[in-house]
Amino acid sequence: MADCLFCKIIAGEIPCSKVYEDEKVFAFRDINPQAPVHVLIVPRKHIACADDIKSCNSGSVKAVFEAVPKIAAEEGLSNGYRIINNCGEDGGQTVKHIHFHLLGGKKMGEQMV
Ligand code: 5GP
Ligand code: ZN
Repeated sequence: MADCLFCKIIAGEIPCSKVYEDEKVFAFRDINPQAPVHVLIVPRKHIACADDIKSCNSGSVKAVFEAVPKIAAEEGLSNGYRIINNCGEDGGQTVKHIHFHLLGGKKMGEQMV
């Protein structure tokens, strides 16, 4: 997607602090971290949001979740972590390339919203 911020980051056109990559997945530090560890995990393939997950692209989402424990271990999150996906307007999604926030390094509050 020519006009997508995260596609540009994945392509190396915009710099980032990369923490992980494989054939299907790319992960980098959030520019505005909300926890001591705040990593954005994204599929290389452009999927706009969770609402656009279909059988033809869900393999990318599967790959994201297979990468999660590897990234969490690399980041030292042995005591747990939180994964958040914001979808669409009401979900508060600001970047329209599906991404999963991996948050950790502190005890999260019990409230989710
Ligand atoms: P959303 O609100 O869409 O779920 O999350 C988008 C996230 O992308 C935000 O947490 C925001 O801080 C992060 N972000 C926005 N622009 C950039 C950028 O240029 N680089 C990085 N590393 N993160 C970004
Ligand atoms: Zn994209």
